[in-house]
Amino acid sequence: MAIGRFMLALNNVKVVLVNTSHPGNIGASARAMKNMGLSNLALVQPKDFPSGVAVGRAASAVDILESAEIFDSLEQAVSDCALVICASARSRKIPWPMLTPEESAIKILKEVNANKVAIVFGREDAGLNNDELQLGHFHVQIPAEENCSSLNLAAAVLVICYELYKLSLRSNSKELIKDQDHWDQKLATNGEVEYFYKHLERVMIAIDFHDPENPRQLIQRVRRLFNRIRIDVMEMNILRGILSNVENAIKKKEN
Ligand code: SAH
Repeated sequence: MAIGRFMLALNNVKVVLVNTSHPGNIGASARAMKNMGLSNLALVQPKDFPSGVAVGRAASAVDILESAEIFDSLEQAVSDCALVICASARSRKIPWPMLTPEESAIKILKEVNANKVAIVFGREDAGLNNDELQLGHFHVQIPAEENCSSLNLAAAVLVICYELYKLSLRSNSKELIKDQDHWDQKLATNGEVEYFYKHLERVMIAIDFHDPENPRQLIQRVRRLFNRIRIDVMEMNILRGILSNVENAIKKKEN
């Protein structure tokens, strides 16, 4: 193991599996994570867990299964993360910032000492839905044959974690993390930004800019905008202050 690797806070990375059907895939994913030096597994509504099948497939990574966190929703699972990368085999209706597995490894290792990071994987049969994909700052696609582009879930986990591991071995960790202190504010976590989106939505409805009965793609586009910017805590507080003043102005006018 390269000496520099120990400087990387890989314990800030979590692998999130959404609504997994086959417990064997959970076990095989845990094993892939352990092979590649990761240990935080989060499960969103797993269909069959805890499970002896998962334990069997995990081999020496049973400890990862035992310490796995279980969540009711992806929103909750990634609420403490300031970088969320969703793995998806398909491109979607609204294009999202895309990364290759190599680029996602660079992005993660550059930020991992400053931010909690989630790498999110979808259901075996249907992947991640649009609402879930919108929680990501980036999507990562593993290049594969066009007529068979969807990998087995645990194989996809292995490819993404392998890229991360490979880069962590090869890189000068100091180089990777040197820019991390450069920003004066912490990036907002997904949970904090969710409060902002709800607030913004309320105000857009109050000023008749947004009609929830006919939403078109407004909310998706707003989410994409702010996810692309990677807003920091101070910037978000300024925007929320503006929204609160708009609400107060509306109230005054009504009275
Ligand atoms: N049939 C599903 C794919 C499910 S595979 C679909 O069409 O979306 C289970 C999960 O593995 C996916 O949700 C994704 O997170 C990951 N995965 C599989 N193949 C991938 C690929 N080529 N690139 C990125 N992620 C992939």
